[in-house]
Amino acid sequence: MNIDKVKQDLIQQKSELQSRLERTHKHLFSKESPVSPNFHEQIKETENDEVVAALETEGLGELIQISRAIERIENGTYGNCSDCGGQIAEERLIAIPYADACIDCTESKS
Ligand SMILES: [Zn+2]
Repeated sequence: MNIDKVKQDLIQQKSELQSRLERTHKHLFSKESPVSPNFHEQIKETENDEVVAALETEGLGELIQISRAIERIENGTYGNCSDCGGQIAEERLIAIPYADACIDCTESKS
């Protein structure tokens, strides 16, 4: 597999994710609009914020995984399982480029 291409894709994915997270973050923490005086509106806004916050947490987790994958490419350990040290199957890396464990280890954990 072409590691340079994988790295490029990961860097690309990382920057897209970063800008998406910045937008989410701004939405979440911009308190430009005053809190709605209407109680039901207020509840609705809070619910939206929770959804956005959940998305942000999810995105951050992905961002960390992508950053780690880029590091692994740079130090030459990309494609090695972080648990058993074995090779991660290529099909798995194509499906999840930032996978850090082989399918056996991932399945035995869940
Ligand atoms: Zn493993």
